[in-house]
Amino acid sequence: MNKATIEKKINKVLNRISEAALNYDRDPNTIKLMAVSKTKPPEDIIFAYESGARDFGENYLQEAQHKITTLSDLPITWHFIGPIQSNKTRPIAEVFDWVHSVDRLKIAQRLSDQRPLELGPLQVCLQVNVSNEASKSGATLEEAETLAVAIDALPNIVLRGLMAIPEPSDEFKAQRTAFLKVRNLFEQIQHRIPHMDTLSMGMSQDLEAAIAEGATIVRIGTDIFGTRDRGVQASNV
Ligand SMILES: *Cc1c(COP(=O)(O)O)cnc(C)c1O
Repeated sequence: MNKATIEKKINKVLNRISEAALNYDRDPNTIKLMAVSKTKPPEDIIFAYESGARDFGENYLQEAQHKITTLSDLPITWHFIGPIQSNKTRPIAEVFDWVHSVDRLKIAQRLSDQRPLELGPLQVCLQVNVSNEASKSGATLEEAETLAVAIDALPNIVLRGLMAIPEPSDEFKAQRTAFLKVRNLFEQIQHRIPHMDTLSMGMSQDLEAAIAEGATIVRIGTDIFGTRDRGVQASNV
């Protein structure tokens, strides 16, 4: 895609974020835009960067490693948002700033053990399976609190909050209901882990509903970079 198109799309997304913030009494400065660049070339990331984006989300390790190396001159914050196999934790811990898709203790332990000390702690979110679909990754709502406390106790990672990918819905009300569940769980866990400050939720189709329910990071792919030809949807759908 060309630069003018990406710039226009980013501005449109930023306007949607501001408008939703206004509608739901939120400070727009507390909502961060993550541009999800999976399957898109480094050139598109440069265009988005030049349009003001600083946070980028990637799902596939090999593809991400190539982009991160190519773009190492840019002060980009890289977020890993895809499913994690335990044999891939080392490179993830070595090149990413954030990991949003931690859903079991073993993965968190490996990330903590393998995080290079000179990089400082890895910022992580616990992914929760809010729609309880067997095919999706994410901790169950029931196990989330115990898991969060165990993850937060690890030395080289900081638990920043929760991430969720609800089942897609065209209904604004249904979208809000799913995000409200995540928010309630977040507030419950915050009693035990007060430094948690991140709700990573909201994609192209449901960012307004996510902001209405307290999202602090929205993850936007399609509405910035266009549709993905591989037919790749949210990582674990
Ligand atoms: C692909 C993906 C997104 C972006 O989804 P869009 O609908 O293209 O905005 C967000 N989060 C995760 C985890 C993804 O895999």
